[in-house]
Amino acid sequence: MLPVEQLQEIISASNNIVFFGGAGVSTESGIPDFRSVDGLYNQRYKYPPEVMLSYTFYREHTAEFYDFYREKLLCPTAKPNAAHFKLAELEAAGKLKAVITQNIDGLHQMAGSKTVLELHGSVKRNYCQSCQAFYDDAFILQSTGVPTCECGGVIKPDVVLYEEGLSQETMQRSMEFIAKADVLIVGGTSLVVYPAAGMIDYYRGRQLVLINRGATHSDRKAKLLIQESIGEVLGRISLA
Ligand code: ZN
Repeated sequence: MLPVEQLQEIISASNNIVFFGGAGVSTESGIPDFRSVDGLYNQRYKYPPEVMLSYTFYREHTAEFYDFYREKLLCPTAKPNAAHFKLAELEAAGKLKAVITQNIDGLHQMAGSKTVLELHGSVKRNYCQSCQAFYDDAFILQSTGVPTCECGGVIKPDVVLYEEGLSQETMQRSMEFIAKADVLIVGGTSLVVYPAAGMIDYYRGRQLVLINRGATHSDRKAKLLIQESIGEVLGRISLA
């Protein structure tokens, strides 16, 4: 049996699937992974992404932070791919309980997913640091220099920067979904970046599916391992 056929069997038999996704889910929509080697060296900035996306850098060099942020993290033309759409369909069909993602692009919601736990926040949400007023990503994109609120306050993206902690509530809810899941599908991540590797340890079932183009740190724990594009693999799954 082909791996995709095995995946089809696993998905057909379950009504309690949880999906955990990483950067690979977004790169297939044309969103660059700023952690990749290419992202690190092929750029015009003076500092590595880890520095420019740190809270200290945001606070001390806010305009430079936003130059980088607008160019590298905001991808206004990106569209959901087959993986995003299939996950939304699985949720609507009552088979998938949650999407847990490390991505910040909002593509799962754009595809129609409802229960999306964004571990690293979202570029779609931005808040004034003085009065908490909300601003969308279009506002940030159109702004220049440091985006400011009507009240004069500086606007900060609701994105978890380096040095910042993840939302405890989002972490807790994610761990609960994972712990209760019948099937856990992990896609588009090599499970190196915190907290991905640790979170899947909360899974107690025997149907861990890993879909990633390269090897991951948990390959030996997987019931099913598919080293192919997440969009191509999920795109072939049928709900019938
Ligand atoms: Zn304000």
